Amino acid sequence: MRHRSTFAQFADESGVLLIVAILVAGLAAVRLPAAHPGRSTGAYLIAGLITLAVFGLCAAAHELAHAIAPASGSASAELVAAAAGPLASLGLGGLCGVATAALALSGAGGLTVSVAAYIGLANLVLAAGTLLPGASSDGGRLLRAWIWRTTGDPRRATRGAARTGRAIGFALILGGVVVLVAGAAVAGIWLALTGWFVAAQL
Ligand SMILES: [Zn+2]
Repeated sequence: MRHRSTFAQFADESGVLLIVAILVAGLAAVRLPAAHPGRSTGAYLIAGLITLAVFGLCAAAHELAHAIAPASGSASAELVAAAAGPLASLGLGGLCGVATAALALSGAGGLTVSVAAYIGLANLVLAAGTLLPGASSDGGRLLRAWIWRTTGDPRRATRGAARTGRAIGFALILGGVVVLVAGAAVAGIWLALTGWFVAAQL
């Protein structure tokens, strides 16, 4: 397994990072004024920018966690390096959850509590998004490293991970169509698009 530079890792994950950043910006722009009406436009803007900036730092921590994990070229090292990023994001999501609760209990303003909650949510979405088993995603790398460690054959692991990713992708597309037909159009389309993303092994 070739050593992946931090930049290559970042390039692989830039799509997921961008999607989560757009979701966070949209959430801040729509939900902050709706949930906490009566504040100045500047207050919402600053709250939104702080949410995005801190999420950017959290995304950098995800990349850093991949980078500092030892990459010795073995299946076990690859397993650790692939898991490090999503684990960092899960940990940060949990920390934000604790911070949100602490802020709410200490009587902080509603806007501040919401910012902490959104940053936590964004980290959890980032962890889930990178764990989808695409070819260059953390989930795909984890699956490949796990099959590699089990079978001892890196080539077989690459094929096995791609096949499993495609199977999961098609299952998600099928699930999306079922949800769509059942009446939840937006959720169904999102699920099907996610499935297509995974099945195409991007
Ligand atoms: Zn990652």
